[in-house]
Amino acid sequence: MDLRRWLDAAVTANEAWSAGFDPVRPHPSLQIDDTRFTAAFEEFTARLADNYPFFHPRYAGQMLKPPHPAATVGYLAAMLVNPNNHALDGGPATAAMEREAVAQLAAMFGMETHLGHLTTSGTIANLEALFVARESHPGRGVAYGAEAHYTHERMCRVLGMDGHEVPVDDRGRMDLDALEDLLRTGQVGTVVLTAGTTGLGAVEPIDQALALRERYGVRLHVDAAYGGFFTLLAGADGPEGLPAAPWRAIAACDSVVVDPHKHGLQPYGCGAVLFADPAVGRFYLHDSPYTYFTSGEMHLGEISLECSRAGAAAAALWLTFRLLPPTRDGLGRVLAATRRAALHWAELIDRSDELRLYQPPELDIVSYFPTTAEETMSGIDTASARMLAEGMTAEKDPVFLSTLRVDAASLARRHPDITPDIGAARILRSVLMKPECEDYVDHLHERLVELARG
Ligand SMILES: *Cc1c(COP(=O)(O)O)cnc(C)c1O
Repeated sequence: MDLRRWLDAAVTANEAWSAGFDPVRPHPSLQIDDTRFTAAFEEFTARLADNYPFFHPRYAGQMLKPPHPAATVGYLAAMLVNPNNHALDGGPATAAMEREAVAQLAAMFGMETHLGHLTTSGTIANLEALFVARESHPGRGVAYGAEAHYTHERMCRVLGMDGHEVPVDDRGRMDLDALEDLLRTGQVGTVVLTAGTTGLGAVEPIDQALALRERYGVRLHVDAAYGGFFTLLAGADGPEGLPAAPWRAIAACDSVVVDPHKHGLQPYGCGAVLFADPAVGRFYLHDSPYTYFTSGEMHLGEISLECSRAGAAAAALWLTFRLLPPTRDGLGRVLAATRRAALHWAELIDRSDELRLYQPPELDIVSYFPTTAEETMSGIDTASARMLAEGMTAEKDPVFLSTLRVDAASLARRHPDITPDIGAARILRSVLMKPECEDYVDHLHERLVELARG
């Protein structure tokens, strides 16, 4: 789709809608003449050039990429109205779109019932899940894997709950025996399982954890902020197919978080939290004297901790889902390409003398490090940092990577031959989250081999 054309169409649609009301004279206090705007805009775009090329497959670092053009157009068209999805008074159209898009997310996870809404981010979505956990299991803490997102520990502090870190196995997934030891103490009311850790993309054994819920009366929350959309590949044929069990188990958990602004093609400002039991809405009860007056129907602000939220974020997601729904044939094809890219690259790394895999990729995150003469942790650390720096500053053929700090014990479990002369080392990490990566991996690999040789 031609972005220029559809951005123009978004403005036209807004003008057509506005024309249904009598004309409003623009106020002089808001008038800016084109000369001044030109100058400011030139300065602005020049400043904006100081960025990494997230759109390009040679950016193979963090979880970053631009939104799909459909999301951009949807966002802009709604933003021109600027609805606030806190309440139906703030814009009925985008509130309805939010409900529909959230229902599509619930269906994607196979949830039979749900109560949910969009949030500004995965962090806030997880905060809400932990808030509900605290209200439903008062006085008990939260357990999460040692490689869970760092905000779980932080949000436990915000909520005044005890956070318990559970050791992980040799693939970075929560060790369920260690979890069970902790659950026996009775201190834990909620277990957070991560479906796709941020560092390595490890999928924790959600299916096996289900039995513990009954045994110890705990809630299970799944943090699938990054990995959630990979459920579309659960049980799929072909190399990109994923073991179905942990993904299918999400439907049987109490809550799940997924970030459409990561793998759902959306601009920032779009997370989501879904609860299996709609009755948890009671924990959000509050009285607001200045909202909720247009309708007796439930307002999204009555089931979320945040107040104002961009209706445009819901609009963008809704429009994207009309075109690329969260199904295997829709968005699933995008995810499949990223997964194949990761698998192919892992194979190339495995066969090369210059690079080694840290561990095989479970989703689309590839973790690796350069081979060094001495095979020490300090050598790997220095060489990884050098590759990162040289890659991104190269005038010709730059590549943008990210690093991951791993401790000596974690490295030793995977690579016992490496001398642990320091406590922790940086290795390299690439999230191949653009489907375009699939065609680019061969080049990326060649370039990294070149950088590794120094
Ligand atoms: C990214 C991420 C988060 C945080 O989400 P934000 O949208 O960045 O606030 C939480 N958990 C996991 C597993 C993530 O990957």
